[in-house]
Amino acid sequence: HVPVLEVDRLSLEFRVRGRVAEVLSAVSFDLRPGETLCLVGESGCGKSMTALAIMRLIPPLGHIGAGSVRLRGDNLADHDEEAMRQVRGNKISMIFQEPMTALNPVYTVGDQIAEPLRLHQGMGKAQARARAIDMLKSVGIPLPERRVDDYPHQMSGGMRQRVMIAIALACDPDVLIADEPTTALDVTVQAQIFDLLREQQARRGTAVLLITHDMGAVSEMADRVVVMYGGRVVEQGGVREILAHPSHPYTRGLIACLPELDREPTDIRPDLPEIPGVVPSVWERGSGCPFLERCGQAMPRCRDTFPPLTRVGGTQEVACWLYPEAKP
Ligand code: SF4
Ligand code: MG
Repeated sequence: HVPVLEVDRLSLEFRVRGRVAEVLSAVSFDLRPGETLCLVGESGCGKSMTALAIMRLIPPLGHIGAGSVRLRGDNLADHDEEAMRQVRGNKISMIFQEPMTALNPVYTVGDQIAEPLRLHQGMGKAQARARAIDMLKSVGIPLPERRVDDYPHQMSGGMRQRVMIAIALACDPDVLIADEPTTALDVTVQAQIFDLLREQQARRGTAVLLITHDMGAVSEMADRVVVMYGGRVVEQGGVREILAHPSHPYTRGLIACLPELDREPTDIRPDLPEIPGVVPSVWERGSGCPFLERCGQAMPRCRDTFPPLTRVGGTQEVACWLYPEAKP
């Protein structure tokens, strides 16, 4: 089957005062219709940058160096800004960690759900309002006829995230990118939001790219997993294979975090105490393996060359010199 989104050797550079930092290096993955692909790693690994690069919402100093993003076969690099505006919120939608900053405080939630419908689907005011009420109902907001005129501050965090999902799904996008969508919510509400995402995905056939640092969310949501470190894909494969046989030393460290599922959201740290050390800054990346400084199994060759992705199982690929297939 044809992937709905194909990210192929995508590179993103930042140029600051004559220095160039490679934020993403040859990131490749496919997203298939109706599946959930989890993009996993600590903060600073390039997950959110990948999402922004797909949406072509990269910060001013950023520059897409090479590679392509195809939506149903169309290369998005051929789209000008006007054409990209027709993609965003319509064919590819995004939800973020903190719905309060993504929602506009001066408009009602109904107006904010109606906006993409009016913009992309040419709906009139009354029709868009009726559809907004339907969307509120479908994302589980009680008394939608009344709540449609609420402002974001009149809602709880969980309700606001439901509203964000309603806005994102209003135009029935092919792809929903969810960037840490439950990190700011308490554990009970997190589970409800994941249930809602799964239910909406099943109903609409939306392909979901879920960005998370939480392996618990991965085990619950993912069909397939892409692990990123240092702006690169270091391991990928089906969720069962990855959870049962994590092969990259970094993935193994991430999975060591799984027993901590019941921690409170306030305890969630962007770094992983199980893996000593921190993610290298973009300025500290050399040509070798970005995990080098934190890896207990590093060898001399790890310093010189980034290992290529090598197949180690049915669907599983890993970029690490520990795997004999990768040795020259
Ligand atoms: Fe560790 Fe080397 Fe594998 Fe990198 S390539 S994860 S440094 S063993
Ligand atoms: Mg992020």
